[in-house]
Amino acid sequence: MSEAQIISGKELAGTVVEAVKMASSRLIKQTGIIPGIAVVIVGEDPASQVYVRSKGKKAEECGFLSRTHRLDDSVSEADLLALVESLNADKDIHGILVQLPLPGQISEEKVIETILPEKDVDGFHPINVGLLGSGNRTRAMIPCTPAGSLLLAKQALGDNLSGLNAVVVGRSNIVGKPVAALLLQESCTVTIAHSRTKEIEALCRTADILVAAVGRPQMIKTDWIKPGATIIDVGINRIDAPEKGEGKTRLVGDVDYDDALSVAGAVTPVPGGVGPMTIAMLMANTATAAARAAGRPDLEPALSL
Ligand code: NDP
Repeated sequence: MSEAQIISGKELAGTVVEAVKMASSRLIKQTGIIPGIAVVIVGEDPASQVYVRSKGKKAEECGFLSRTHRLDDSVSEADLLALVESLNADKDIHGILVQLPLPGQISEEKVIETILPEKDVDGFHPINVGLLGSGNRTRAMIPCTPAGSLLLAKQALGDNLSGLNAVVVGRSNIVGKPVAALLLQESCTVTIAHSRTKEIEALCRTADILVAAVGRPQMIKTDWIKPGATIIDVGINRIDAPEKGEGKTRLVGDVDYDDALSVAGAVTPVPGGVGPMTIAMLMANTATAAARAAGRPDLEPALSL
């Protein structure tokens, strides 16, 4: 069988960012409003530092106002909530992202619920979760990784996903559940699998679209994949890579990439798949939030979400 198509998240993210730039330059021209994003990071977690740096860089590339607030990991919950309140009140800021995870003394739930839903560019606020669940995509802020995953699936399959069998492995609030909600709205027949699912291999083998959001390196092998399926690999796992030298590591997804290449119809690589799309969709959400704040939903980036 021929090799699967590789769905380049890097390329598609570039297209999304171009649409964001276009929408935001129209917004600036027509209303004078510059999309503004504030990213809050608490502590020194190296992975979070990398994410936050790349979000800031991309925001600047999009011509946004971009602010990063770096707080010590001993910061109190009250002080963090006060910062979020001040960003809620700041007219120049349309999107607020508090990088997770947060240190133990701070309730993530409280922080998320303090962000104004219309500035919640991560899409984690219960109001946005409810809007997405009830199918109100014109008002919801859609979480970035799930939105990016949907666009990657459409890149391989076209805009019409109606009637396809989708299996989402993972049921987290930030990836699994919202991806499933999006695919259901696309009229897929959706099954969510998790650590208690029985005969998970056979279930995955029924999937025309298989989304892996587990956090287990290369768990999904040949036998899990229906020939010709579209595989969206959300997982980011660091594993030892002795072949690169002593002590070296590399990133892999939740899917065995070589297995997927030989069986699937299309597959996202790790890195270079869902990761870049997550950042691109954050930019899209920020531009969307700014357009909505200006009362100009017609100036939201044009994306087939
Ligand atoms: P969570 O740990 O919150 O959720 C993992 C899910 O996988 C859970 O629902 C769990 O089931 C399920 N699971 C665990 N083990 C198994 C198993 N053996 N078989 C079936 N299901 C299993 O992870 P996240 O959703 O936050 O992230 C998932 C992955 O995606 C991670 O690798 C993360 O790094 C990556 N990620 C990537 C992003 C990107 O931008 N590309 C963004 C966000 C995450 P149960 O609920 O039963 O415990």
